[in-house]
Amino acid sequence: MKIDEKFDYIICGGGATGLLLSHSLISDNFFNNKSVLIIEKEPKIENDKTFSFWDNQISILDKIVHKSWERAEFKDSEFTSSFNLDPYKYKMVRSDKFYAFMKKKIDKASNFTYLNASVNNIIQESDINYIETDKGSFQCSIAFSSIYNPEEFDFKKYPLIKQHFLGWTIETQEDFFDEDKIRFMDFSVDQHQEIRFMYVLPFSKKSALFEYTYFGGEVMKNSDYEKEIKKYLDREGITKYEISEKEKGLIPMTCYPFFNANTDSFVKIGTSGGWTKPSTGYTIKNSIEKIDMILKFIKEDKPLSKLRFKSRFWYYDVLFLDVLVDSKGKGSRVFSDLFRNNDPLLLFKFLGEKTNIFEEIRIFVSVNIMTFVKSLIKRVKSVYLKDFLKN
Ligand SMILES: Cc1cc2nc3c(=O)[nH]c(=O)nc-3n(C[C@H](O)[C@H](O)[C@H](O)COP(=O)(O)OP(=O)(O)OC[C@H]3O[C@@H](n4cnc5c(N)ncnc54)[C@H](O)[C@@H]3O)c2cc1C
Repeated sequence: MKIDEKFDYIICGGGATGLLLSHSLISDNFFNNKSVLIIEKEPKIENDKTFSFWDNQISILDKIVHKSWERAEFKDSEFTSSFNLDPYKYKMVRSDKFYAFMKKKIDKASNFTYLNASVNNIIQESDINYIETDKGSFQCSIAFSSIYNPEEFDFKKYPLIKQHFLGWTIETQEDFFDEDKIRFMDFSVDQHQEIRFMYVLPFSKKSALFEYTYFGGEVMKNSDYEKEIKKYLDREGITKYEISEKEKGLIPMTCYPFFNANTDSFVKIGTSGGWTKPSTGYTIKNSIEKIDMILKFIKEDKPLSKLRFKSRFWYYDVLFLDVLVDSKGKGSRVFSDLFRNNDPLLLFKFLGEKTNIFEEIRIFVSVNIMTFVKSLIKRVKSVYLKDFLKN
């Protein structure tokens, strides 16, 4: 590989979406004669994340699904809703397997180069991008970047809620778990004037992931999450276990329009491109659809600057996050109202952004609508009216 070598495309960041994009480019004959460089700074061999999602279709991820479930449960301190997920399945992919699978595909693609390096700078000049790394600089016609640096953005207008969590995969000696049913959200844990829940994925009768999750506030010491997991396990009567794996993470939940930075030759992808669903933090499944859109734009020679990824669901999410920010410890009520008053499958369809407007109205009237109206008025007054008066 030569310094200053020119590629058709450079993908900065070989994490979830950089690799998914690579896979899609390799799988589509249209791109066979395009040279692609993918630059990733980490070795990417560990199981640093588990990617879960619900789906009623088969995608590339099905080739590496670790486990899938057909039933789910939602809980709060007053009620439990258990339901079949059909036509969906909830699926989980381990990231170590994901990275290995994708890298094998890249290694075999003669038009691809994988570089383990750190991107220091991306310079955009009319129709060419210069990518500076600690192993030299490279040029390309189109650059994609999943490098996310929240310090670059001012989240005043579109608040940022940090979804932070720590999970233990535990192994028990006795059979404890219903291995066919996930616990999607359990709000029966002490809310401490915040929004907190437990998420449980059972892998077998004797093994499960328990993830203690916060929407909001700051990341805490590991021991603070772990104390809560221990308390929860105790409550469930699980006292003898071994911890086989740990997972810690932070997912930004925000409607910040990161995609406004896209140009015809530079596209932000993944979390850095605003692909993380603001109201849930789920990203992986949406990304496949967004990548399909990018490829379609390129093949049809449409300007990439027009890629906005903004639909009516983005506006719903703006309002939803405002409600959570203002909820003052009552945020779990919004989730409870949704699950108590709706068919859970309709909610999964809604969160997957596949509902029609009539279904959405049914969902809106099922929650405390005044809370949303108040947030809407506040947003119009504090943001849109201010902008309007400024101009
Ligand atoms: C612990 C955890 C669990 C999650 N679980 C789920 C889940 O179950 N379901 C779901 O839908 N979403 C989940 N998410 C959210 C989201 O799917 C993931 O964060 C996903 O990895 C986002 O993909 P990405 O490509 O945007 O970012 P990443 O996968 O983080 O990829 C960005 C890549 O850029 C690299 N990079 C950064 N800076 C540089 C640089 N200067 N030079 C070169 N490379 C650089 C990083 O090393 C990284 O590999 C989870 C997130 C976390 C943190």
